[in-house]
Amino acid sequence: MRVTERLKSAKKLFSFEFFPPKTEEDAKKLFESARELKKLGPDFVSITNSSSGSTPYRTVAMAGVLKAELGLEPVAHLTCVAHTRAEIAGICRRLKELNVENILALRGDIHNIEGLPPKRDYSYASQLVAELKATGDFSLGGACYPEKHPDAATLEEDIRHLKLKVEAGTEYLITQLFFENAHYFKFLDKISAAGINVPVIPGLMPITGYKQLSNFTQMMKVSVPETLRAGLERWADDKESLFRFSVDHASAQAAELLAHGAPGLHLYTLNRSRAALAILKNVKGGPG
Ligand code: FAD
Repeated sequence: MRVTERLKSAKKLFSFEFFPPKTEEDAKKLFESARELKKLGPDFVSITNSSSGSTPYRTVAMAGVLKAELGLEPVAHLTCVAHTRAEIAGICRRLKELNVENILALRGDIHNIEGLPPKRDYSYASQLVAELKATGDFSLGGACYPEKHPDAATLEEDIRHLKLKVEAGTEYLITQLFFENAHYFKFLDKISAAGINVPVIPGLMPITGYKQLSNFTQMMKVSVPETLRAGLERWADDKESLFRFSVDHASAQAAELLAHGAPGLHLYTLNRSRAALAILKNVKGGPG
């Protein structure tokens, strides 16, 4: 099923993001999580891809297995900045052989390829999108950043570039995580004024460990509202209370987003099911 087709329905869409595990133990945990989350009937699961270009076939293989073994609809992330055109064509051939119909087309982080020999067939995701669109083989999603991409000088400049990516053929967008819904709603107003009208699925991530907060916010340059920061600090040494606090925060975010027109939710799971199950139970009464 193509995500683009699913987005035509008025029903809210729910999806989960996983990353390819590195060890057998981690793979086992991931499949346990995926089985648990499958009970909620997600519309798709997405699988990240390293932007260093070193292991693209781990993502491809995992997408194939989640589809064939668990019957989940995979969206394979595909970063282009460290690949040649020939390599991208090879990856896409394999995805097609595995019946994977959905790609999240990305540039990838430049800092991850520092020191590696430059390939430079692609500088931006929009170039990858244009190429994939021409084949017609995949439904194409892309990334967007309500608080702007860290490399962009201003949000307005970033939105101008986003428009090129959508015009190249990106059919829907998934946002970077954010902790304050005002960023999402203001972003929707701005992109709509700029003539971007594709669905924008909000990406949410509950912070389930205190250290995650600085890791993610520094890496992704997203802001943290004072109430969230204070709560996470308060429960820094009490994992269970921190978990509950964080799930409540994300659930309130999710409920407000859905009530005010978001097409669905994309949950960054970090390969764990518990927080995602709890949030969806809170917002739609699923098993938790
Ligand atoms: P682009 O859309 O190409 O934008 C990158 C930057 O270039 C922006 O600052 C933009 O304003 C600028 N730009 C774009 N076009 C132009 C132009 N024509 N001229 C000048 N400037 C331009 N990373 C991974 O490594 N693996 C993953 O699996 C992964 N999954 C992600 C999933 C989601 C939902 C999100 C939000 C991000 C994900 N990322 C992932 C991170 C992403 O790869 C990085 O943020 C990367 O730096 C940008 O990728 P992009 O596809 O958004 O790039």
